[in-house]
Order: sequence, then structure tokens, then C-alpha cells
Amino acid sequence: MKFVVSEMAYFLRGRARQNLKVLLSYFAFLTALIVSYSLLFQYLQRRLEGEEHSFITGFYWVITAMTTLGYGDITFESDPGRLFSAIVTISGVIFLLIFLPFGMISLFLAPWIENRMRYRPAHGVPPEMEGHVVIFGLDPVTRALTRKLKSQDIPFFFVTENYEEALRLDEQEGTKVVYGSPADPQVLKKLRIESARYLIANMGDTDNTNIILTARSLCKTPIAAIVEEPEHIEFLRLAGADQVIPLKRILGRDLATRATTQGALAHVLDSFGKLLVAELPVHGTPFAGLTLAQASVRERTGLAVVGIWERGDFSIPVPETPLGENTVIVVVGTQEHLEALEKVTGEKSEEDLVLIIGHGRIGCAAAAFLERRPVPFILVDQAPNPHCSEHIAVIGDATSRSILQQAAIEEAKGLIVTTNDDGANIFFTLACRRLNPHVRIVSRANREENVEQLYTAGADFVVSNASVGANILMNILEQKASIFLSEGMNVFRSPVPASMNGKTLRNSGIRDRTGCTVIALEESGKETTILPSPDEKLTAGTNLILIGSAEQEAACRRNLS
Ligand code: AMP
Ligand code: ZN
Repeated sequence: MKFVVSEMAYFLRGRARQNLKVLLSYFAFLTALIVSYSLLFQYLQRRLEGEEHSFITGFYWVITAMTTLGYGDITFESDPGRLFSAIVTISGVIFLLIFLPFGMISLFLAPWIENRMRYRPAHGVPPEMEGHVVIFGLDPVTRALTRKLKSQDIPFFFVTENYEEALRLDEQEGTKVVYGSPADPQVLKKLRIESARYLIANMGDTDNTNIILTARSLCKTPIAAIVEEPEHIEFLRLAGADQVIPLKRILGRDLATRATTQGALAHVLDSFGKLLVAELPVHGTPFAGLTLAQASVRERTGLAVVGIWERGDFSIPVPETPLGENTVIVVVGTQEHLEALEKVTGEKSEEDLVLIIGHGRIGCAAAAFLERRPVPFILVDQAPNPHCSEHIAVIGDATSRSILQQAAIEEAKGLIVTTNDDGANIFFTLACRRLNPHVRIVSRANREENVEQLYTAGADFVVSNASVGANILMNILEQKASIFLSEGMNVFRSPVPASMNGKTLRNSGIRDRTGCTVIALEESGKETTILPSPDEKLTAGTNLILIGSAEQEAACRRNLS
């Protein structure tokens, strides 16, 4: 059945669709011709032969004449009548027996056969394939992941049972794709999943469970799954997934931490043992307008500033890096360090209020995150969220100024724009920036290509679903220490090389040579030293825990081995 549907779909797209229009016009012409002949037949039989016939008999006669069947049960005896019979038969031969089959063959059959001959979907991976990543489910997240896999020369295969999708991926995008049902054990065997590096399940929760159960019955290859409903995490784990990623909840958290103007502890993104990673907008803190060295964050709070966000660009700072109004600093430290920072920056702005446009799964997760801080918020959506019974949203069209005013846009300190429609997100960002020039706007980009437009529309920060999801998956594939960290940053372990034994951290030159920051020292049998001082002595074999960008990590691996 699926085969028939996908083959039918072929005739409804591109050139085949144009051809179908030509064929329909031709059929209209034939119908008009047959109806005219039938009426003329009735008229001529009455006038020339004195016979009365119904329209149906006329139709029958025309069809037998045009198809050259000519039963001979109704005939014309007069010359004009016989001339009419000859014209009907000749036009039948031309229009029904020559043009119609010719048109059908040249416009449909030949291109269809050509298309089928040209494309034969692969039903498996090459027999020697190993170390490949198998991806179930194509969306902007897995698309962004494939770009990363390509850049690292890691082989990957999509699996789809949709012929059209297979054809498009394979032919137009040059992506390797295997055609077959993702939960079919035979298909999984042909994908050589037992020799794969990782399986990524990114279909619905029920399909994912099915795939994971089948894959687990065949092999032990690690499986990462993206889950839609956080309450299904347990089921996917039970089915055998090694990592289950509640992506929408993570995105909600990322949006929420960036929108609140409350103190540092409300901005914690992730933890790594006792180490907390937080992102803090510089806006409204005493650091605004200073350089990183002048701000002396480390001296005042003990926190290490390990990254800087500037309009969506992440970089590792140097002492001269200026901290502007729009800068977001990424800091690493303990709970005590963050509390010290709150003393410097002020604990919270009492009147903080965040407006959230879009109460889907991500908006709901952002609201839940703010609720725990607690930061007051107002939700707006065009429809109630059927999955949420905890929040009450203002229901209405957020493109209307009165709805936005009802949702207190003018008083809001922060705004989260999180609908699943990027066009609407761009519009809301632009409109709200006009209504409240000082509000902190954090917008969600469902597709990577819209990130820049959201910044242009006035967003202070854009969270891209695709790149957050792809980064998480990539970190899992590379078996990074922490998986849910801020985009652009990696946390990883590396042992102290023998050449650095006895040197202090300051003299080791790790930062100068690689750009990475040492955020902890792990010595076996001892408690982990968090944010070691520059005078800490290194011992060969101790594990360094470092933070840095992907390039810096690569530099570290080259330099410290
Ligand atoms: P999710 O992708 O699960 O976060 O859901 C997106 C949410 O955005 C849904 O609840 C939609 O109702 C909502 N949404 C989509 N378009 C609009 C719009 N133009 N105005 C308000 N809400 C919208
Ligand atoms: Zn909710």
C-alpha cells in the first residue's frame, strides 16, 4: 500500500504534475469531441435517415466508430451520413488510438520508468561498514548533526521507510540513506547496527521505544534517544536506551535562564559534579562597561569566566575582553562562588517579570523552570496546551497589540518567544522590541537559517533548537564528560603529562598554549580540587578537567599528550 501511495505521489510533483495537467486538458477535449459527435449523430439520423435515437445510443455509436469496432448495427445509408461516419472514425484513430497512447507513454510511462531505473534505494550499508552512526528520524536537529558528522568524517546513515524522503535525501542532498522500516529486525541487521558507533532514535516516543527494543534484542551498540514527553524517559530507558535527551525541556531551561534578570543562581545551566556552569547577562551588573580584567570576577567571587556570548557568538575571553551591555558571561564555580557573585551583582531585581509567548512543550518547560526559581511569568498562546494542567495562559492572537498589552509586555523585564513558527517568532520579536525597547528578548529559532533574522529583529539572545540538539548528540557521540552544557563549550578530561610534573598551573602554560581553562583537578584518592589556584602544583597522572571550544580541545589533545 505504501508503495502504491509513494508511486502515486511521484505523479503529483514537479514535471509529472505539469504533464498530468496536459493529460487532463486532453481528456476534456476528447469528452467535448465525443459529446458533440453524439449530438450530431442524433441530429443527422433524424434529418437524413428519419430515425430517432437517444443520446446514449449516440454515445455508443460514436465510441464504436472512433475505436474502429464498428458493430454495424446502426448505419447511415445517405452519402452525407457516410461522410460523417468516416470523419468520426478517422478522428477516433488520430485522437484516441494514436495521440492518447503516445501521450501516455511519452508524458508518464517513459519518465516514470526512467525515474525508477535511475533510483534504487539502498536496503543496507556496505558489508565492511563499521563505526557508523545510524539515525532514525529526519528533522532540523538531526540535519544539523549530520553537518557536524560530515566535518569530522564520521560515516552516518539515515533510515526511512518513506520512498520520497529517501529519493530526496539521496539524490538531491547526497546523504546516505537506507530504505526500510526502522523497527524491522531485518532492516537493522542490514544496517550492521552491531558494528555501528551509535544509534540515534529521533522519531516519536512510541516509535523510538519500538526501535530501541528491536535494536537491543540484536546488539549492545549504544543508543541515544530524543524524548518528547519527559515522563516517557523511564520507558525509553527500560527499552534499553543509554541516553535519553529531554530536548524540549533543555531548550525551555536554556530560554528561561537567559531571559530572567534575577541573580546568578537563577542562571545555572548545568552542573559537573560540584561545579556549576551559569550564564549571566552583564546588563544591570557593576561589570558593564569594564574589561574582564577590570571586572576582576575571579578575585571578587572565586568564579572563572570561561566563555563570552556576544549576539550569538561564543568565544573564550582574554583579560582585555570588554563586557558590554549585551554580553553574557559564562562562569564556572561552586554554589558558594555564585552566592558571592550575587552579593556583588545584587541578589535579584524584585520586579522581575517574564512574558512567554508560546505555551507548547518548550514554553511550558521554560515556565516550569522560572517557577522553581521563583520568577513571576505570564504565558500567552493562541490555544490552550493539552499537556499542561499547571499553568494558565492568556489565550489569544499574540500578533494583536491588545493581547500583548494584556500580557503586560510594557512591564515585562524579560520576554521568551517560543512558538514553533519562526515567521511568527520574528514578528513577535520585532513587535515587542518596539513596544518595550528595554525588555530582554530571548527567541527560539526552529531552523538554523533563521537565527540571524531573529537577531536582526531585535533579540538579545537566540536559542537554536537544531544546534542545541545537535551539540548534545555530538557530545554524546564523542563521550564528553558533560552533555547538556552551553553551546560551543566542551568539558573534558586530560591527564597531566609527565613533562608538567611539579609545575604550577600558572607555569604550565596550558591556557597560553591551548586556550582551555582548567576548572578542576581530579587526583585519585583525594577530593577533587575545584577551580584550582594558579599556584597549584601539578602531579603527573592527575586528571585535569578542562573547558574550551572544540578547536581548543583539539589543541589541548595535541599539546598535552
Ligand atoms: P512547542 O513546539 O511544543 O513548543 O509548541 C509551540 C507552541 O506555539 C504551540 O503551543 C502553538 O500553539 C504556539 N504557537 C504557534 N504559532 C503561534 C502564534 N502565531 N501565536 C501564538 N502561539 C503560537
Ligand atoms: Zn505549562
